[in-house]
Amino acid sequence: MIASDLATAVSRLRDLIDDASVIVPFTGAGISTECGIPDFRSPGGLWTKNQPIPFDAFLASQEMRDEAWRRRFAMEDNYVRARPGRGHQALARLYHAGKSPALITQNIDNLHQASGISPSDVVELHGNTTYAVCLDCAKRYELSWVREKFEGGQRAPDCSCGGYIKTATVSFGQAMPPEAMQRAEELTKRCDLFLAVGSSLVVWPAAGFPLMAKRNGAALVIVNREPTEFDEVADLVVRNDIGDALGPFIAH
Ligand SMILES: [Zn+2]
Repeated sequence: MIASDLATAVSRLRDLIDDASVIVPFTGAGISTECGIPDFRSPGGLWTKNQPIPFDAFLASQEMRDEAWRRRFAMEDNYVRARPGRGHQALARLYHAGKSPALITQNIDNLHQASGISPSDVVELHGNTTYAVCLDCAKRYELSWVREKFEGGQRAPDCSCGGYIKTATVSFGQAMPPEAMQRAEELTKRCDLFLAVGSSLVVWPAAGFPLMAKRNGAALVIVNREPTEFDEVADLVVRNDIGDALGPFIAH
């Protein structure tokens, strides 16, 4: 059912949360827009102005690696200033109450970790943009270090092993992280309430999880401003503002 208004949405969601013993939240860009992180794919989003740089292009040329880092540093103020929103806080509350063992996210902004969920319980399908790694030896680099080198020489620095350094995100054309994918699948099959928040559920692998949860007997809740393909099979669809809908769950 699609909640007719905010009060109905909150009341129905409260019942479903109370009845559930294992809740697995699955989050997308919509949960972070109130925190100042733009939704790259939305109309007017960054990707409609700047085509994303595919992984093979990043590997193929220094110019593309330089451009990728230039774009990333242009976004740095958004990421540094962002604080967890009401949606993040509500999900952190479920986690600390023992209702939710872990959370799956498509987001790369580190805001779930910032809200108090242990990094080991945030399953990141698309990686994390708040630090960088060497693509060859997996050594971790902080962005401040990369930026200093970049601005000193106006080019993206390489690792001491000779490998390319990239934000720890999954680019188009880059393999999904197998461990995260496996853990997301296990969590989805284990839950009795799958709570999709702020994801259009279009991009693979996001599209596969809601049905996987339903087939395993879980209830499905979709909180998203726009309609999704799975609204018809969902037990509850909430199209209100995410912060408004989840805000009441921060306290209890
Ligand atoms: Zn390396």
